[in-house]
Amino acid sequence: MSSYKINTKCVQGGYTPGNGEPRQIPIVQSTTFKYATSEDMAKLFDLEASGYFYTRLQNPTNDHVAAKICDMEGGTAAMLTSSGQAANFYAVFNIANCGDHVVASSTIYGGTYNLFHVTMRKMGIDFTFVSPDCTEEELNAAFKPNTKAVFGETIANPALTVLDIEKFAKAAHAHGVPLIVDNTFATPVNCRPIEWGCDIVTHSTTKYMDGHGAGVGGCIVDGGKFDWMAHAEKFPGLCTPDDSYHGITYAEKFGQGGAFITKCTAQLMRDFGSIQSPQNAFLLNLGLESLHVRMPRHCENALAVAKYLKAHPKISFVTFPGLEGDKYYELAQKYMPDGTCGVVSFGFKGGRAAAETFMKHLQLAAIETHVADARTCTLHPASATHRQMNDEELAAAGITPDLVRFSCGIEDAADLIADIEQALTHV
Ligand SMILES: *Cc1c(COP(=O)(O)O)cnc(C)c1O
Repeated sequence: MSSYKINTKCVQGGYTPGNGEPRQIPIVQSTTFKYATSEDMAKLFDLEASGYFYTRLQNPTNDHVAAKICDMEGGTAAMLTSSGQAANFYAVFNIANCGDHVVASSTIYGGTYNLFHVTMRKMGIDFTFVSPDCTEEELNAAFKPNTKAVFGETIANPALTVLDIEKFAKAAHAHGVPLIVDNTFATPVNCRPIEWGCDIVTHSTTKYMDGHGAGVGGCIVDGGKFDWMAHAEKFPGLCTPDDSYHGITYAEKFGQGGAFITKCTAQLMRDFGSIQSPQNAFLLNLGLESLHVRMPRHCENALAVAKYLKAHPKISFVTFPGLEGDKYYELAQKYMPDGTCGVVSFGFKGGRAAAETFMKHLQLAAIETHVADARTCTLHPASATHRQMNDEELAAAGITPDLVRFSCGIEDAADLIADIEQALTHV
């Protein structure tokens, strides 16, 4: 980890060219890498030497960009994945296998909830979902002897709940397991979960990090603080020899700072192959170079929009953790004093019909399933992502039929408010 401030890490982290080398990270558009002798290559296959041999496992472009995100989060090792879904799957499956159990916050992103609750259950992994607002007693009661990890989101998408990272880290560590935090919405510009006791950070880089709706991607960062060997009986995959790598024990050979990502690359990426393309990694890096400039504008615009809506007579509620009076305002102030994210959700006194009318009349804000983009985008979940659900099912998912999710971009706040204002005249 470099000692530079986050703003400098966004611009220059992960890649320092030598004399006469390209200033920008080169796109290494090659599936494979050449060696003089079979012996040279054998060393790489045995993890005896580090180097590149096949892009499914490692690629120099991806490694530079992963190193930048690692530096931004204050981690010891990182890897890119093809999507945020792949990042969360790998992060959990790297330590929880068939017969194991994971404690997760109940307000996580719908795609992650499906991954855990439906698909990973089919793989024999059990999940207990707890409210992010649960007491320490309730949280501790969720653990079982076979629990291998705790999972939550810094700011949940789209619920906008804020995770009490220290509370979750304390419970995880008391039970000898790591805390995994999906930091997609806050980004390391606003929150660095590792500083608060989190062990593994994941990202959908598709959102603010890319920031321009250009490429789907993910990232996993290891904070290097979790002592796997101290809990060796829980983590045999890291603490006992891997037969598929000539008996290497990851936690011994790569240490506390390198074991998790090396195993995740050597086993999971080798076998599942959800790599990010070097082209997308290059685009992601362009996004990262301005992340620290864009995030404050996203937050500023969202606060202006939230304040405007809060005072509007046709609006029934506004949820935004950066707004004073919000249920999560105090927690957000603690973990994200410089800003939260650009996403605001709100409802209408006129119910579902009012939300539908409002959506029809927006001109600048575009209707998209995407969030966290430079361009303002918005979604009415009850008629889009959650349209198969009836009102009772929506309520259970924490979504009211009139809820609109509004992801503020980096345009001028006055134009966003004017668009909302004219759409509201039709409601
Ligand atoms: C979008 C999102 C994901 C999934 O990421 P993809 O890149 O779409 O696969 C995971 N977690 C959060 C918080 C997200 O917003």
